[in-house]
Amino acid sequence: MSKRDYYDVLGVSKNATNDELKKAYRKMALKYHPDKNPDDKAAEDKFKEAAEAYEVLSDQNKRSRYDQFGHAGVGGAAGGGASHFSNIDDIFSAFGDIFGGHFGGFGGFGDAFGGRSSGGRRRVNRGSNLRVKVKLNLKEIATGVEKKIKLNKYVGCDSCHGSGAERGNSKSTCPTCHGRGQVTQVTNTFLGQMQTSSTCPQCGGDGEVITNKCNVCHGNGIVKGEEVVTFKIPAGVAEGMQLAISGKGNAAARGGIPGDLLVVIEEESHPDLIRDGNNLLYDLYVNFADAALGSSNDVPTVDGKARIKITPGTQGGRVLRLKGKGLPDVNGYGRGDILVNVNVWTPKDLSKEEKAILEKLKNSPNFKPSPSSKDKSYFDRMREFFS
Ligand SMILES: [Zn+2]
Ligand SMILES: [Zn+2]
Repeated sequence: MSKRDYYDVLGVSKNATNDELKKAYRKMALKYHPDKNPDDKAAEDKFKEAAEAYEVLSDQNKRSRYDQFGHAGVGGAAGGGASHFSNIDDIFSAFGDIFGGHFGGFGGFGDAFGGRSSGGRRRVNRGSNLRVKVKLNLKEIATGVEKKIKLNKYVGCDSCHGSGAERGNSKSTCPTCHGRGQVTQVTNTFLGQMQTSSTCPQCGGDGEVITNKCNVCHGNGIVKGEEVVTFKIPAGVAEGMQLAISGKGNAAARGGIPGDLLVVIEEESHPDLIRDGNNLLYDLYVNFADAALGSSNDVPTVDGKARIKITPGTQGGRVLRLKGKGLPDVNGYGRGDILVNVNVWTPKDLSKEEKAILEKLKNSPNFKPSPSSKDKSYFDRMREFFS
C-alpha cells in the first residue's frame, strides 16, 4: 500500500507553520483517538498515520528531507519504511505532552492523553541516530539499489528483553518522583515562591527504578552488538543527500524509541560521463574528415553505449542530445539526457603527403569559414545559457 502525502494526511498546505501543523495534528488525533473509537481498526490506522506525518513534519530536518525526496527521504527501509511507532503507547510517549497541560477546553479528554503513561510527563528514552556513508556508482544511481550493511550499534539486551531488570518484576516506582519522572522544587525568592521542574535525579526520568539490575546490560537494557540492515536507495540520488531509515539507529535504553539510521550518499565519479543534475555530459572527439563527411559514433551511457550520428558538415562545439539517456529524477519527474559536446580534432603531426593534400585543399572556396546563423559560436551559446 502506498503512503499518503504527509501534508494531505494532516490537511495542511506545504508551507504550513509549526503551529498550524500542531493544531492540525491535535485535531486529527482527537478525532481518531482510540479511547473515542474503541475497537475501530480504521480509526487506529488514521491515528497512527497522523502521528507519523506529524513526527516527520514537525522535525525541521525530516521535513526538508521529506520535501526533497518524499517518503524515501524519511524512511526508505526495505520493508516499505513503516513508521517506528509499533504501538499506540509509543505515540503517547512521543507526543503526549502536546495534549497535556494546554488542553483547556477538552477537560478530561486531555488527561486521557497524558494519562497513558503512569506519570503523564515521563521522559521517553530515545536511541541516538547512526550515520553511515554509502558510495554509489552512476549505474546504481540510475536504477536505484538495495544495500545491505552490517552496523555496530546498541541493540536491545536479550537477557532482560530490554527492560534492564534482572527478572520480570524487579522494577518499582521511583520513590523520589513517585513515578512522574520529574521533580518539582519550590524556592522562596523576594518575588515570592518560584516553582521549577527538572528530570528526576534518581530514575533519570524513567519514573521507575530497577531494584535488581540485569547483569548483562547493568540495567541499561541495551548492549553493544551488530545488526545487518537492508535498505533501498531510490534512483536519482546525488552526492551529499541523506536518507533516514526509521528506527534502525541505536536502540534506546530500557525499551524506548530507537534512533534512525542516516545514510549519506557519496557518488563515484565516472571515467567518461560528467553529471550535471539529471543530465550527463560527454565530450566526443571526431576527426575533421568525419565532421565534414558525416559519421556514426559510440557514446558511453550508464549501462553500456549508444550510437550517435554526426551529420555531414557538423561544426566543433555543437551539442547533441541523447534524449532520456541521463539519470531519473529522484522525485520521479522524468529523466535527464546525455549531452554530447562535439569536438572536431585538428591533427597535430602531419606527414609530408598529408600536408600536401591539405595545402591543395586549403584555398578551395568550400574551406573558407562562412558561419551561418545556424552555426552558433561558443559565445552565442554562452549568452543563451546565461540569459
Ligand atoms: Zn539486560
Ligand atoms: Zn524518579
